[in-house]
Amino acid sequence: IHPTAVRRPDYITVQSENTAYTDNHITAKYLDRGADVLISDGQFTVKPTVKTYEFQTTRKVGKTGIMMIGMGGNNGSTLCATIVANRHQISWHTKDGIQQPNYIGSVLRASTVRIGTEPSTGKEVHVPISDVLPMVHPNDLVFGGWDISGLPMDKAMERAKVLEYDLQRQVKPHMALIGRPLPSIYYPDFIAANQEARADNIIPGTDKQAHLEHIRADIRRFKAENQLDRVVVFWTANTERYSEIIPGVNDTADNILAAIKNSHSEVSPSTIFAVASILEGEPFVNGAPQNTFVPGVIALAEREKSFIGGDDLKSGQTKLKSVLAEFLVNAGIKPLSIASYNHLGNNDGHNLSAEPQFKSKEISKSSVVDDMVDANRLLYKPPVPGAKGKAAKGEHPDHIVVIKYVPAVGDSKRAIDEYYSEIFCGGRQTINIFNECEDSLLATPLILDLTILTELLTRIKYRGEGQTDFAPLYPVLSLLSYMCKAPLVKPGTDVVNSLGRQRNALDSFLKACIGLEGNSDLLLETRIC
Ligand code: NAD
Repeated sequence: IHPTAVRRPDYITVQSENTAYTDNHITAKYLDRGADVLISDGQFTVKPTVKTYEFQTTRKVGKTGIMMIGMGGNNGSTLCATIVANRHQISWHTKDGIQQPNYIGSVLRASTVRIGTEPSTGKEVHVPISDVLPMVHPNDLVFGGWDISGLPMDKAMERAKVLEYDLQRQVKPHMALIGRPLPSIYYPDFIAANQEARADNIIPGTDKQAHLEHIRADIRRFKAENQLDRVVVFWTANTERYSEIIPGVNDTADNILAAIKNSHSEVSPSTIFAVASILEGEPFVNGAPQNTFVPGVIALAEREKSFIGGDDLKSGQTKLKSVLAEFLVNAGIKPLSIASYNHLGNNDGHNLSAEPQFKSKEISKSSVVDDMVDANRLLYKPPVPGAKGKAAKGEHPDHIVVIKYVPAVGDSKRAIDEYYSEIFCGGRQTINIFNECEDSLLATPLILDLTILTELLTRIKYRGEGQTDFAPLYPVLSLLSYMCKAPLVKPGTDVVNSLGRQRNALDSFLKACIGLEGNSDLLLETRIC
């Protein structure tokens, strides 16, 4: 079932003195062009800059596993079943006819990137983004993981009620072979009380250090048993409440390790999984909104040079918001308020109906327009230095997020958004959007993208001018931002929420690794004679 790791052929070969191919690596020189801006007395002095980097990508795609925390949930079971359907080319009957399995919704499997122009025709050439650099194919992912619910995976898929019956019927024997998820860590204080009934698959005891060791051993065993080169550990379990940030407890690498040793009450299950992955040297991605990455965890990842990424999958409403808000603000239109309502009836919605868990989601969904507003102080008043309250943050649109649990609609989430904006000379514009779709079928391809991209980023090294050795990328993988509602970035650097900018960063980075310039829409040949 799990084809052995192979090196994919290179579909794109860059012929340039800046790009070199060996059996093991693709090495490319890249000129990073930017500008330093000096601001004085309202005057901007801009000096163009050029920095030289070299990127080195290991060509062999290792055998890769994904260990999901929350494997028996809607996303986890849907991911397993759809990979099985794709691997075995299982098609199924729907009332509209026969449906083939596919990876629609995955940026890496279903979208393209522009690599240049064909000289004879002048037409732009687009290639699958997965052909730019060697990437693991989702069919080759080995999956496993944990769940506090011990329901076997075939039954978990039925419970989720996401997939069509005829598909479930056919993948059921394969799902039954996967069996039960591994027992997991359950601290009832962190998820909604309404989840208690399904918590029947739990690692016993309350000793958090013992739990950490248990999870580390699970990761090691999974890796060894499946002869994997890389395991991506992925939180797709229920949203937890926020952990309180307490100086001396979770603020530094040593403190978080000590807090686990002392079984401190503010250490969440997701933080234990993140620390276990970091200490095992395997990447950890957080697909939910809670602050798993307390400062001590980020510091530990930096110290151990182990990769982390998140937070929260950017699937529907927020993805659209990060497009629409940018469109409005960049068009010189001033959103005055954005009001977002959701209702959904799956287990995620049930968990989010509890206030502390809703709070995590609300925070994650709220900051998504901040960078666009901050970038246009013609429309919005800038922060007032030394001021308190709202003025200190600068003017922002009113922004509310409401989520309600409505069991009848199941996994088919409804999202209603109103964008109310100021237009020319005091006019007003109202845009209403109603978005309805199966939540887990939007989320599953994002989990695949995050896993595949994370694996790739662990194989890319860089060196700057004058450096002799290649070094791994910075441990916080902010290139995952496109798929994340609340992107985790290097502490002290700006978060980019705009979907267009996030995508451009991803395309440009992948192209830089083969020595190509980023996307340019200058298209000079079409504008000059
Ligand atoms: P779900 O409730 O169907 O599945 C979550 C699973 O996690 C359940 O099977 C539950 O038993 C398990 N679980 C809870 N605590 C656990 C623990 N400590 N260890 C192991 N397992 C645990 O939810 P879902 O729809 O699959 O969503 C999963 C997560 O992804 C949620 O946090 C959700 O907010 C987030 N998310 C989902 C979407 C989407 O579109 N579906 C978008 C963004 C974020």
